[in-house]
Amino acid sequence: MATCSICKKDFKNTVLRTCGHIFCRGCIDDRIANRMRKCPACSKAFDKSDAMVVFYG
Ligand SMILES: [Zn+2]
Ligand SMILES: [Zn+2]
Repeated sequence: MATCSICKKDFKNTVLRTCGHIFCRGCIDDRIANRMRKCPACSKAFDKSDAMVVFYG
């Protein structure tokens, strides 16, 4: 299954629209809160409005 590559615990459910990489909401929120607004996978900068929750069927 698709678990978050940062915490390896929660399922991925939040996509960064700037680059298309997907992580869990908790890890994205941590980065937004800590002003480390770069994608952990490709280091592309993102903003709060670029984090979009996705749903899997
Ligand atoms: Zn995570
Ligand atoms: Zn990325």
